[in-house]
Amino acid sequence: MKKVFTSCSLGDAYSVKMLLEAEGIESMIRNESLLQGQATVDGHPSVWILDDSLLEAAKSIVSRCASSEGRPCGRSWKCPKCGELHDPQFAACWQCGTDRPDEQ
Ligand SMILES: [Zn+2]
Repeated sequence: MKKVFTSCSLGDAYSVKMLLEAEGIESMIRNESLLQGQATVDGHPSVWILDDSLLEAAKSIVSRCASSEGRPCGRSWKCPKCGELHDPQFAACWQCGTDRPDEQ
């Protein structure tokens, strides 16, 4: 499984999941139960794809979605490995594939 999207809004996570599934990519949302209460540091809902081989396709779908209707939460973040700067909604480095650090 690969994480392709993180948001502070469960609605955004569901939008991404629906987009992915419309393209035939199976996905699941993690952390949705935590949304009932206060968001915790690592409690943001995230969307994961089940088939790692579809990661590139999923990323391009997510980037389309995130630029049109995503509501980024948190701050931009810098990849700890290569130093690339990313918008808050991205869950992994486009450059080298390193996962976003959990702390924000
Ligand atoms: Zn990187």
